[in-house]
Amino acid sequence: MLNFKDVKTLLSSSKKIAIMPHTNPDADALGSSLGLRGYLIKKNHRVSVISTTDYPKFLNWMDGHEGVMVLNESNYKEIESILLEADIIFCLDFNSLKRIDQLGPVVAQSNALKILIDHHLDPEEFADFSYASIDAAATAELIYEFIVKLGDRELIDPFIAENLYAGIMTDTGQFKYKNTTQNVHYVTANLMELGCDTTKVGSLIYDTNSYSRLKFLGFALSQRLTFLADYKTAYIAINAYDLRQFNSKTGDTEGLVNYALSLENVVLGVLITEREEGIRLSLRSKGDFSVNELAKKHFNGGGHRNAAGGSSELSFDETIRKFETILQEYKEELNAQVNEFII
Ligand code: 5GP
Ligand code: MN
Repeated sequence: MLNFKDVKTLLSSSKKIAIMPHTNPDADALGSSLGLRGYLIKKNHRVSVISTTDYPKFLNWMDGHEGVMVLNESNYKEIESILLEADIIFCLDFNSLKRIDQLGPVVAQSNALKILIDHHLDPEEFADFSYASIDAAATAELIYEFIVKLGDRELIDPFIAENLYAGIMTDTGQFKYKNTTQNVHYVTANLMELGCDTTKVGSLIYDTNSYSRLKFLGFALSQRLTFLADYKTAYIAINAYDLRQFNSKTGDTEGLVNYALSLENVVLGVLITEREEGIRLSLRSKGDFSVNELAKKHFNGGGHRNAAGGSSELSFDETIRKFETILQEYKEELNAQVNEFII
């Protein structure tokens, strides 16, 4: 195990560094990776950002995004050797090697020092140094602190600040979720001082819907939303045909689950998507109901108490049936949620 001083010493001379966000990187995973990349390049390191899957189109403004190596059939070998030859691998916004799919075993096998920066529950023990807190709203908040702790706050330029801000803004639901602490605002204020244009980032992320994405949203809400009032639950189930029909791109379903949760009296909101790689579930809750527990127990997943994800090996229809069946188990707990905000 390394301590912070060791990390500081390590980073004081040029290293080969790989940075990995989790599969299907969101604004926090990608913003943290690219923010850290910007900083490490200034410190004269050789940096590769490696993602197992593509990132959403609404993030293609982030500084450094063009350089992200997205795994495909033709670059596996190249990525494998980068990971095996790296001095340091940063694992950002995930804490289980399962979350980087087929590259998990490669990272495990690599002799690189592994540094984990993350805010999820139940970390696996694979890192040599961990800067993690479940009280952080976003990994990007921790990246800011990590750079400051290294004594390099002044190296954070507007590009780095905006990448980090994007992670904080989205992981707090635009500063609305319970994880929006004083520290979140403090870090955000600092990022603004360092040149982050918050209006610009908000607009780049939320006001850049394609016409087909908006149509898809309308379709999902009018045709694919199920409300189970007895369970204070609403879910949206999107099959592969729907995705094809609307030419849905990576990231087009991002945020959809929040509409299910926005229904009055709903405690549990779920999005079930039939993707090429299998069935994915996105779960959100209000109050004390733990979607992390549910995802872990039934859908091979995890996350946070109020936001988690998972997968299913069953067919699409069977997954929906399974989900409805397991709700029985949680009926009492769901109905017992007396949330001050949902009366
Ligand atoms: P999302 O629904 O936006 O994909 O994910 C919500 C939260 O749960 C995120 O913090 C994400 O990192 C986590 N998460 C999503 N899918 C999985 C999964 O399969 N396993 C685990 N452990 N966490 C997940
Ligand atoms: Mn995050």
